[in-house]
Amino acid sequence: MFEISSQDPSSRARSGYLRTPHGVVETPSYVIVATHAEVRTLRPEDIPQTNTQMLIANTYHLWRDLGTEGLSDYPGLHTAIGWPGPIMTDSGGFQVFSLGFLREKGLRRGGTIETPRLGEGIVRVTEAGVYFRPDDSNTEEYLDAELSIKIQEDLQGDIVVAFDEPTSPAAGYEETEAAMQRTHKWAERSLEARYSKQKIYGVVQGGAFKDLRKKSAEFIGAMEFDGLAIGSTYGDAYGGTKAKTMEMLEWSIPYLPIDKPRHLFGVGRIEDLLSGVEAGIDTFDCVIPTREARHGRIWTRKGPVDVKKSIWSESRAPLDEECSCPVCALGTSRSHLQGLFRSKDMEAGRLATIHNVYFFNDFMARMREAIKSGEFAGFKKEVLRALKLQSPRGRGLKI
Ligand SMILES: [Zn+2]
Repeated sequence: MFEISSQDPSSRARSGYLRTPHGVVETPSYVIVATHAEVRTLRPEDIPQTNTQMLIANTYHLWRDLGTEGLSDYPGLHTAIGWPGPIMTDSGGFQVFSLGFLREKGLRRGGTIETPRLGEGIVRVTEAGVYFRPDDSNTEEYLDAELSIKIQEDLQGDIVVAFDEPTSPAAGYEETEAAMQRTHKWAERSLEARYSKQKIYGVVQGGAFKDLRKKSAEFIGAMEFDGLAIGSTYGDAYGGTKAKTMEMLEWSIPYLPIDKPRHLFGVGRIEDLLSGVEAGIDTFDCVIPTREARHGRIWTRKGPVDVKKSIWSESRAPLDEECSCPVCALGTSRSHLQGLFRSKDMEAGRLATIHNVYFFNDFMARMREAIKSGEFAGFKKEVLRALKLQSPRGRGLKI
C-alpha cells in the first residue's frame, strides 16, 4: 500500500506513494476536509483544480445526517461527493469525545480540566462502547467499534480508521491509561469487524504521557493495520499546546513500523506541517485551508492576508503573486474578492477556498520536492523565515 521513495538524511521526513483503489497519493500530503460529503463552497468540478489528492469525510456527522437506514442504501462517498479520487473516513471517536469534553467539562482556555466520571453525563464510556446524547437529540445514542466500522464500510471510502477513545492532553494518568487500554481492545475489535477490502488505520493514544505513548505505539504498531494515526494531539481548545503535540509525536513515532503510512488528525498550520513531516508524518487533515477561506483569510507565501480589511479596497494586487491556481490565473485581485465578500456573494467563499486549498497542496508539493532533493532542512528554515514563524510555537503573521 505504501512505498517510501525518498528519506531525508537528517530527520524522519520521507516522501512516498500511498496506493488506494481510487488512485495514488504522493506524500507528504494534505487531506482536504469534506465533513458532510462536500468540500464546503466548492462544486465537485472545482476539487481537481485545487490539486487535491485525498479527501476525508466525517463518520459521526454522516451517520447523524443519514441515519442507519440512509446508510444501508448509500451510493458511497465517491458518488455522493462527485470525486473519483481517494477518500478516507475517521472513526467518529473524536466527535463523541469533543461532545463530552466541550459540554461537560466546562472547558476554559488555560483552566483546569476535570477528570470525566465514567458512567455519567452526556458521554458515558463503557468497556463495550460509548453512550452519548448528541446536541440535536435528547435520546441516548450508542457507538462502538463494530458500528463505527459498519458505518465506514457503508460510506465506502478507501481508508477507514479503527474506533478509538481520544483524551485531552490535560487528562490525568489513570484516565489516559484506561482510555488507551480501551482503544487497544477496540482496535482488535475494529480489525475483526472489517469485511471489505478497505484499508484500515489504527490509532495510537496515550495522551501526554511518554510511557503510555510508547506502549500504545508498540501495541498498535504491531497489529495488522495498513496504516497508523497519532490520536489526541490537540491544541489549546482541548487542553494541549503545540509544543506538547510535537512531544507526543516524538514519543510515538520511533516505535512505529517504518514502512506503514502515518496520519496526523486535525493538524494543518504551516509550521506544524513542517514539524510533523520532520517527525515522520505522511498525511495531515485540517479545516484551516477551507475554514479560513470562508472568513476571507487568504494564504500567500509571505503569510496570511485578511482580504476583507479596508487596506485592500482599492488593491489590484493578486491574491498571491506566486500562485498559479485557477483564481489567480484569472487575475482575481484582492479588491475584487473583497467586493464579493462585502456583498455576501457565494462566489467569495468559493474563490477563496479554491485558492487556499491550492496553496496548501502546492506547499506540500514543494515540501515533497525538498525531501527528494535532500534539502528539507533548508526548505523548512526558509519557509519559517519568509512567514516570520517559529517552530513549533510560532504564530501566523497578521498582515
Ligand atoms: Zn491562487
